[in-house]
Amino acid sequence: MRQLYEKEHLIMRLFDAFAKPRKDEQLEIYFQWAENVGTSRLEKTVNWAIAHEERFPTISRLNGIVKAQKKVVSEQYRDECYFCGSTGVVPVLHEPDLVSGVYHIRMMSCKCSLGLTAGVPPYFKKFPTLQFSVIGNFSGNYPQYVDSLKRDKNEALRGDDTYIEK
Ligand SMILES: [Zn+2]
Repeated sequence: MRQLYEKEHLIMRLFDAFAKPRKDEQLEIYFQWAENVGTSRLEKTVNWAIAHEERFPTISRLNGIVKAQKKVVSEQYRDECYFCGSTGVVPVLHEPDLVSGVYHIRMMSCKCSLGLTAGVPPYFKKFPTLQFSVIGNFSGNYPQYVDSLKRDKNEALRGDDTYIEK
């Protein structure tokens, strides 16, 4: 019930912000529309409408705002740093050595802003380009690519494709 109350409150705020008379039948249409929108998304949409719209928004206009906001979120996601996956560190694949008998990964800091605080040596000083050139059809980011290389190489090393990473 509390959630419903919050949504109704937001819709009434929208009406008030545009000095729209709160007629029951119109409120009801907007309440019904709001039922299918998440509370936090509704709040963002109402705030956005109040800040940017010149006129009281129709339902179709509100749907447009909801859609535009979803797009903003997915674009932010796409802004993830490709080299480090927005972790600040880039993986370096090492061959089996005295420390580890399998292919293993050590991290170095990325050149993006997150890498500045990583506290490990900078990757792109060691590798002017990336350690591996990524095969074109690989869909993930660079750390995911290195991880998949590591798994493949270790499987080959063991000559056993049931190898499970520990
Ligand atoms: Zn980065």
